[in-house]
Amino acid sequence: MVYSENELVFCVNCKKEIENIKKQGVMTKEELLLVKHPQKVFQVNYPIKKDDGTIEIITAYRVQYNLNLGPGKGGIRFHQDVDLDEVSELAFGMMLKTSVTDLPFGGAKGGVRINPKNYSKSELEKISRGYVRELFNAVGPTKDVPAPDVNTNPQIMSWMLDEYEKIAGEKSPAFITGKPISDGGSEGRDKSTAMGGFYILGEEYADVEDKSSICVAIQGFGNAGSVMAELLYNDGYKVVAISDSSCALYDKNGLNIPKILEKTYKDGSKIARLDSLDLEKITNEELLELDVDLLVPAALGGVINSQNADNIKAPIVLELANGPVLPDAEQILEAKGTRIIPGLIANSGGVIVSYFEWDQNLKGEHWTLEEVNTKLKDRIIGAFSKIKDLAQKENLSLRKAANKIAIKRVIDKADIN
Ligand code: GLU
Repeated sequence: MVYSENELVFCVNCKKEIENIKKQGVMTKEELLLVKHPQKVFQVNYPIKKDDGTIEIITAYRVQYNLNLGPGKGGIRFHQDVDLDEVSELAFGMMLKTSVTDLPFGGAKGGVRINPKNYSKSELEKISRGYVRELFNAVGPTKDVPAPDVNTNPQIMSWMLDEYEKIAGEKSPAFITGKPISDGGSEGRDKSTAMGGFYILGEEYADVEDKSSICVAIQGFGNAGSVMAELLYNDGYKVVAISDSSCALYDKNGLNIPKILEKTYKDGSKIARLDSLDLEKITNEELLELDVDLLVPAALGGVINSQNADNIKAPIVLELANGPVLPDAEQILEAKGTRIIPGLIANSGGVIVSYFEWDQNLKGEHWTLEEVNTKLKDRIIGAFSKIKDLAQKENLSLRKAANKIAIKRVIDKADIN
């Protein structure tokens, strides 16, 4: 193995990072080749008939970045800005995430280039079913197992599973994860992303007796952010700020999260925006720059960048979203000693419980919530400990240590003829 022990920095911005590594000459040409290109790339364009009778062509992607460790694994996002580059970079991130958490999966990601807010429920169903029809031959329980991501949910997984089973002509619940429980979904999958991050914070603050001394700001109040806010509140942390795309809410004495959830969520679906609530408001930008003990970016990527990195005051940043801290910002934050817990591990709870779901489906089992959460805690804390040990041993940031572990496992399994 000629693979250099130098500090490899990978992140979702893989093209840029791979370029850096190339310049540093830290990997052999062959090794670089092994992770430089996505293994399989699919783009599909298919028509749907909208409610008003007009036809629209939907553009969608699936990238199986690397399958060395097993079938592809990764969510499908619906977003008006997704393109092949973004999906490839996110698939690269999944390759690292499944590797660092020791799952028997390669990394993949899917995207549909639409703004879901502009479509009715029946149109979204057609879009979801069309995606599976077009990509049927590329996916499946032993090939590539999709899941939810930004703007997709159990209902969408359910439509996709139904379409897959119709074409396959058999029941095949292990095709997709993040399904409703009634379709073979796992207990705990809905809250697993936040739950995993919460367990990691339990380790970080193991020595703090009074959790109310920890002031937290959470950016993003979707599935991950809202559940994290609730878990932290219930455990006694002081959640002083939360936000969604409409605004941020702030109370230096701590927000009443259960009350806010009551007004904004019903049956797990967001029913109201935060700006409809009669509480003190600040902007999303101001939230990120608050003088808090812990900052949890739980929305889209790139929110902490070279423009605002200087102003970030939180000494600990837990990346619950994928890629919220850009590489330039990371350098600035590292220089002032900010501890960044990378998304690779911090938000891996989702894919870990997805693995449990797939495993239960293949075995025909249904585990209790307690079993799922116990296994999640063991696995995520185990992986986090390995990352911390390597970081300490080699004086690396947590991200560099995580990347180093992940990439080594992928490269070691490369099948070279
Ligand atoms: N979309 C989630 C992620 O980025 C979950 C993927 C999965 O469960 O396969 O990790």
